[in-house]
Amino acid sequence: MNRLQWVINVTEESTHNKHTGADFLCLNIATCYNYISNYFAFSRLKFVFGPSALHALDLVDQRSVTCVTSPSGRRVFQAMGSSGRSYTCYSSCHYCPCPAFAFCVLRRNDSLLCKHILATYLSQAMGLCQELALSDQQLTDILLEKTGEKVEA
Ligand SMILES: [Zn+2]
Repeated sequence: MNRLQWVINVTEESTHNKHTGADFLCLNIATCYNYISNYFAFSRLKFVFGPSALHALDLVDQRSVTCVTSPSGRRVFQAMGSSGRSYTCYSSCHYCPCPAFAFCVLRRNDSLLCKHILATYLSQAMGLCQELALSDQQLTDILLEKTGEKVEA
């Protein structure tokens, strides 16, 4: 079995269980992206994540995700929503302060991720994150409160 066949088999198995499938796709999307056609990957993304997949890909196309780093080694991602508001997503946990995450993920539990978190994963996998280096103090400001504002260098 070659590597492409392995990816296809594992992806097929993972789509039978949405939660396992989500974890698999998040962790291995770069591999999938390299070995499977865009349509094939998109159909699986849409199956697992629903309408968020298309909205997330729109954000990726618009280069809406910025990886913010500081000299201490901390990093967060800022995803610009369609309203123009920026949401801070953390690389260490699945959380986004947007209303869709609160309602669809936390309250109704009918989505795995919001479009901002998915766009963050996809942008990383595709190498399409904007990069922004800030001071530790500026990153602290983001982490403490200013999650709704995009910080400029
Ligand atoms: Zn969100």
